[in-house]
Amino acid sequence: MNSLLNIIEHAPLDQFNTFGLQAKARYFADIKTIDELRDALVFAHQKNLPVIPLGGGSNVVLTGDLDAVILAIHMLGRSELVNDGKQVLIKAGAGENWHEFVLWTLEQGAFGLENLSLIPGTVGAAPIQNIGAYGVELKDRFVSLEAVSMETGELVEFTFEDCAFGYRDSVFKQAKRDRYIIVTVTLQLDCQLEAKLQYGQLQSLLMSRLGDKAPTGLEISQAVCDIRQQKLPDPKNIGNAGSFFKNPVVTSEKLSMLRASYPDIVAYPVGGQWKLAAGWLIDQAGLRGFRQGDVGTYEHQALVLVNHGQATGAEVVAFSQFVQAKVNETFDVNLEPEPRFY
Ligand code: FAD
Ligand code: NAP
Repeated sequence: MNSLLNIIEHAPLDQFNTFGLQAKARYFADIKTIDELRDALVFAHQKNLPVIPLGGGSNVVLTGDLDAVILAIHMLGRSELVNDGKQVLIKAGAGENWHEFVLWTLEQGAFGLENLSLIPGTVGAAPIQNIGAYGVELKDRFVSLEAVSMETGELVEFTFEDCAFGYRDSVFKQAKRDRYIIVTVTLQLDCQLEAKLQYGQLQSLLMSRLGDKAPTGLEISQAVCDIRQQKLPDPKNIGNAGSFFKNPVVTSEKLSMLRASYPDIVAYPVGGQWKLAAGWLIDQAGLRGFRQGDVGTYEHQALVLVNHGQATGAEVVAFSQFVQAKVNETFDVNLEPEPRFY
C-alpha cells in the first residue's frame, strides 16, 4: 500500500447516516486522496468484501450492520477552470459539502445552483440521483465527472451522455450501480443570473420580500433555505433522509380516473404523463404525522419519514412498506423509495 490508510474495524455509523440508525461497518476508512481510495479498494478485494462509499449519508437507510468496507469520501477541492465572461466551468472534489459549494459558487458570481441550496450531502453524491429541487436538477449544469472503478482502480471520465440522468436517477443507480466511486464533478454555471421561479412557494416568498424587484442569486438561495428550514426536519434534531419516495408518474387516463374521485389531486405534466405529489397522496391516505413506535411521517411534509429516537433500520423499512401499501390501497398507485437501502 502506498498511503497510510487508517482502517477501523466494527466502526459505528450513526454519525454517517442522517436517519440516525444504529449500524456498524465491518471496516471503515476515511478517504482524502485517490491513493488512499485505491489502497482501500485493494484491501476490500483482499478481504473479499464489497465497498460502499458514503458522503453525508443523507440518502441511505442502514438496515443493519454492514459486512463491507465503508469509505467516507472526503476528497476536497474547488477550482474555476475557465471563465469567458458568460459562463464559468467549475470543478469540485467529491467530498465537498454540497450546500457550502453552492454558496461558494454564488460568491464567485457563478449562477445556476441557487435553487439547490441546503440539500444535505456531498458534491460526489449529487450525480447519483441527479439531485433536484424547485425546478432545477444537477443535470441542468452538469458537464462531466471523474470516477474510480471499484474493480480496476482506473480513473474514468463520464460525460453528460454517459451519466444517463433521469428524474432522481442516473446510470450510477442503474447499469453502473456499485461500480464507480466519483472523485470530482465539473459543472457549467452562468455569469448572469437567470432566475428559475416557477415553484409557487419560492415565487410568492420572493414577491413578498422584494415586490417586483428581480432577486439576486443570494436572495433566491436565502429564500430556498428559509422555505426548507420551515418545512423540512433538520437531521441534527430529528433523523430523516429527506423525501422517502419518488413522485410517481402516471398516464393521463390514470390521472382522469383519480381526479374523478379526488378533484384536488396535485399533479404536474412531465413528458406527456403526469407527476403526482407523493406527499399529497400520503397525506390524503391519512398518514401525515402518523407514527408507529419511533418511525413516522413528518407532520409538515408527509413525504419525509422520520426517526423519533431509537428506530431501527428494520422498523423504517417495515413502516415504509406500510405507507406504500396504504397509498396503493387508496389510489392504486405504487410508491418507489428514493434512498438506497443497505
Ligand atoms: P449518501 O447518502 O452518503 O449516499 C447516497 C448514495 O450515493 C449511496 O448509494 C452512496 O453509496 C452513493 N455515493 C455517495 N458518495 C458517492 C461517491 N463519491 N461516489 C459514488 N457513490 C457515492 N435530494 C434531492 O435530490 N433534492 C432535495 O431537495 C433533497 N433534500 C433533502 C433534504 C433532507 C433534509 C435530507 C436529509 C435529504 C435530502 N435529499 C434531497 C437527499 C440527499 O440529500 C441527496 O440525495 C444527496 O445528494 C445525498 O448526498 P450524500 O453525500 O449524503 O449521499
Ligand atoms: P412542494 O413545493 O410542496 O411540492 C410538492 C411536489 O410537487 C414536489 O415534490 C414537486 O415535485 C411538485 N411541484 C411543486 N411545484 C411544481 C411545479 N411548479 N412544477 C413541477 N412540479 C412541482 O415540495 P416540497 O416537499 O416542499 O419540496 C420542494 C422542492 O425540494 C421539491 O423540488 C422537492 O423535490 C425538493 N425536495 C427534495 C427532497 C428529497 O429528499 N429528494 C427533500 C425535500 C425537498 P419535484 O419533487 O419533482 O420537484
